[in-house]
Formats: sequence, structure tokens, C-alpha cells
Amino acid sequence: MGIWKKLFQPKKCAMCGKKPVNPNYYYNDHDEKVPVCYKCVTYAERRSFRKV
Ligand SMILES: [Zn+2]
Repeated sequence: MGIWKKLFQPKKCAMCGKKPVNPNYYYNDHDEKVPVCYKCVTYAERRSFRKV
């Protein structure tokens, strides 16, 4: 049951908050795996997010 909830969780880009297109996944400051849309990848790397 739990896995379905996870799969269908609405994911937003961690940078712009929009629905990400072709998201890359990064770990943020809190070690959470977050999606980052391709437009915001440079911002994510500047903020020292680590690529998954
Ligand atoms: Zn974005």
C-alpha cells in the first residue's frame, strides 16, 4: 500500500516549485531526495545539492 502512495506523490521541482520536466534527482541540505527540473539543475548545483 505504502509504495503506491510514494509512487503517486505529486513531485515538484525543489527550485521553482513547478511540475518538473525530465527531472534530475538531487539530495538537498536535509539529505532528502528531491526532483529538480532540467532548467534548475544549474541552480541546484550552485546550492551544492548532491546528485543522486
Ligand atoms: Zn525547476
